[in-house]
Amino acid sequence: LADLGARLRGALSSVESGSDDEIQQMIKDICGALLESDVNIKLVAKLRDNIRSQIASSNIAQEASPMNKRKKLQKVIYDELCGLVDSHVEPPKPKKINASTKTIKGKKVKLSKESSHVIMFVGLQGAGKTTSCTKLAVYYKKRGFTVGLVCADTFRAGAFDQLKQNAIKANIPYYGSYLEPDPVKIAFEGVSKFKQEKFDIIIVDTSGRHRQEQQLFTEMVQIGDAIQPTQTIMVMDGSIGQAAESQARAFKESSNFGSIILTKMDGHAKGGGAISAVAATKTPIVFIGTGEHIGDLEVFKPTTFISKLLGIGDIQSLIEHVQSLNLQNDEGHKQTIENIKEGKFTLKDFQTQMNNFLKMGPLTNIASMIPGLGNIMSQVGEEETSKKIKNMIYIMDSMTQKELESDGRIFIDQPSRIIRLAKGSGCSAIEVEMILQQHRMMSTMAKSAMAAQGAPGAGGAPG
Ligand code: GDP
Ligand code: MG
Repeated sequence: LADLGARLRGALSSVESGSDDEIQQMIKDICGALLESDVNIKLVAKLRDNIRSQIASSNIAQEASPMNKRKKLQKVIYDELCGLVDSHVEPPKPKKINASTKTIKGKKVKLSKESSHVIMFVGLQGAGKTTSCTKLAVYYKKRGFTVGLVCADTFRAGAFDQLKQNAIKANIPYYGSYLEPDPVKIAFEGVSKFKQEKFDIIIVDTSGRHRQEQQLFTEMVQIGDAIQPTQTIMVMDGSIGQAAESQARAFKESSNFGSIILTKMDGHAKGGGAISAVAATKTPIVFIGTGEHIGDLEVFKPTTFISKLLGIGDIQSLIEHVQSLNLQNDEGHKQTIENIKEGKFTLKDFQTQMNNFLKMGPLTNIASMIPGLGNIMSQVGEEETSKKIKNMIYIMDSMTQKELESDGRIFIDQPSRIIRLAKGSGCSAIEVEMILQQHRMMSTMAKSAMAAQGAPGAGGAPG
C-alpha cells in the first residue's frame, strides 16, 4: 500500500495557500488514489461528500493562516479515512487465566474456573489460515499468553505437517493426527486437552476449499458446534480487492465469524479495496498479514492504519505497543511513560524509545508509528532504517544531560551546537535537524494525545 500512502500524502502536501481551487484539487486527488487502490466507487463518492461537508462546517475557508488551514484539512481527511476503514465493532479480546496451582498426587494442577479463549479459523484454501494461526500464536505468546494450536484440517494432505513444522519452529504446543479422518473429532479432542491444561488461548486451524462450497460450510458449522469458539476469525486473501466484501458476506451467513484477518497485504495495490470492503460488512479486521514470515502480522486499528498511510505517526499506538512489551521494570522506560502522561516528551524520552525499538523488532511495525520513519522504511528497507535509528541514537548520545532533558527548544538559534553534535556523532547537520524535527512532532502529538484522552490506559494486549 506504499503507493496509496504516497499519493495521499502528495495530495495533502500539495495544498499551499489553502485556496478553494487547491482544496478541490486535493479532494479529487485523494478520491482518485482511493479508486485506483480498488476502494468501492460508492464509498469513495460518500467520502468525497463527507469531506466537502466537513470542510464547510469546520470553517476552514475562514481560517487566515495557511498552516492552520492545512492542519484542519489534514484532520478532516484523517477522520474521514478512518471512518472508511472502521467497522465500529469491538472484537473480543483474550484474557490471561489467572490459575493458581495446587499439587495433587505429586502433579501440579491449575485451579481456575475461567475458561480458555478458543479461536476458530475459517476461510478458503490458500487464504493463509495455517500461516496466520502460527503468527497469531506467536503474537500472543510474546505478550505472555499460553497458546496451543489444533490442526483440524483433514482435507488437505500435508496440512498437519505444515502446522506441526510451524509450531515446532515457534515453540508452540500443538495437537493433531495423521490417522483420524474426522476434523470435528480432532478439533474437539484438541480443544478439550488444552482447556484441561488451562491454556489461555487455543487456536483451531480448519480446512478450506478452493471455492465457497456447501460441504465446507457444513464442516465449519459442525466444528463450531463441537468446540463452541469464543471468537471465529475468517482469514481472507487481501489481494482480492473489492471481491472481499461478497466473500465475507457468504462466509458470514454460514459460519458466523466475528473478526477478520486480511493476509498478503505486503505491498499490494488492492489492499485498500479489501480493507474498506470488509469494513462495510461491519466486521472488524483484527490483524493484517504482511509477509510469509512468522513475525509478519500487524494489529489492525483504523486510526493506526490511516496514520501510517498519511505518514503522521501514531503516538497512542506507540504507547500501547511499548506498554505491551513487558518493559515495565526498565527505569528509563518508566520515566518516559510518566513524562508522556504529563504531556511531556523530552529528547531523552525520544532516545529511550529509539533504544527500545532496536530491542523490540520487527522494525516495520514500530517505524511506522514515528512520523517520517515509516516512509523512509518503506523506501529503504529494514536494514537501512535500523542504521538510521542507530545514527539517531549516536547523535542523542552526544548531547549533554541538560539538552537531553529539555524539550528541544534549547537548540533554537544554536547552529554551532548542531554542527558540533553532527561532528561528534559522525553524522550530517541535516540529520541532527531531522531528529530535532521528528522529536518536535512527537512531542506535539504526545501533548495533544494526552490532552484529548487523559492518561493512557494500563498495559494489556492491544488488538
Ligand atoms: P491456508 O490454505 O488458508 O491454510 O493457507 P496457507 O497458510 O497454507 O498459506 C497459503 C500461502 O500463502 C502460503 O504460501 C503462505 O506462505 C502464503 N501467505 C500467507 N499469508 C501471507 C501474507 O501475509 N503475505 C504473503 N506474501 N504470503 C502469505
Ligand atoms: Mg491450511
